[in-house]
Amino acid sequence: MIKSIYNRFYSDFLLPDRLVEMQRIIVAAKENGYKHLTLPEYFDRITSTSKVETSNIFIHRHDIDTDVKTARLFYKLEIQEGIKTSYYFRQTTIDITLMKELHYDGFEVGYHFEEIAQFCKDKKNYSSVFVRENMNEIQDIFLRNLKQLEKDLGFKIQTVASHGDFVNRLLKIPNHELITDEILKTAGLRFECYDKRLTESYSILCSDNAYPQFYRGMSPVDAINSDKNIIHFLSHPRHWRSAPLENLNDNIQRLVEGLSVKINKTKLNG
Ligand SMILES: [Zn+2]
Repeated sequence: MIKSIYNRFYSDFLLPDRLVEMQRIIVAAKENGYKHLTLPEYFDRITSTSKVETSNIFIHRHDIDTDVKTARLFYKLEIQEGIKTSYYFRQTTIDITLMKELHYDGFEVGYHFEEIAQFCKDKKNYSSVFVRENMNEIQDIFLRNLKQLEKDLGFKIQTVASHGDFVNRLLKIPNHELITDEILKTAGLRFECYDKRLTESYSILCSDNAYPQFYRGMSPVDAINSDKNIIHFLSHPRHWRSAPLENLNDNIQRLVEGLSVKINKTKLNG
């Protein structure tokens, strides 16, 4: 218990900059003949009717859950290394300037959405029945938020990625449950990142993780060294550089939300 509290504290407030490690991953991929593709570039290849190369591909997706400053450092590093990746921003991390720069430099910029979890937080109701009863309204909020973001950015968003919140784990309903073929069509979106055509085509899905175990499952460098054909790597700023103020804010927010869930769950069950 004390060890895990210390690890969380270290990870949030003392973690040294790990951008050198990020660079090591990029360089290892390049040196081993992997091509970095954005998610839509890869999607084009797997859905194309003509024969296109789908081997030795490295897809790096950044979910910007917190800390836009570190996201900017990822971008700087990737420009320096001459690669393109995919970035997904939440309502709380939207940074129009950075998103425009990324977009016009050929990176994928998408919306990291969480309307199911947010709806429950706003309404202080955490039952799955409540979510299913209100799905139409939740979908309308998603469409409105997306439209507003596109208006602010001045370009069309092509792809979205579902954020995983503790409320989703509680509900056992992921945010991407609001995405249907009809919603994709109405919103003019090409895909949601948990689309099975994508996830089932990866040889391996690697993800970063909090200190002290920096990767969930295999690390991307191990995946490269094991000759995995199509590597999808998901990373979050929080695990690459400590941002004490951001993390403190985020922890307080989570604490407040956690308390609200506890109180309102008791009310629902009582
Ligand atoms: Zn997320």
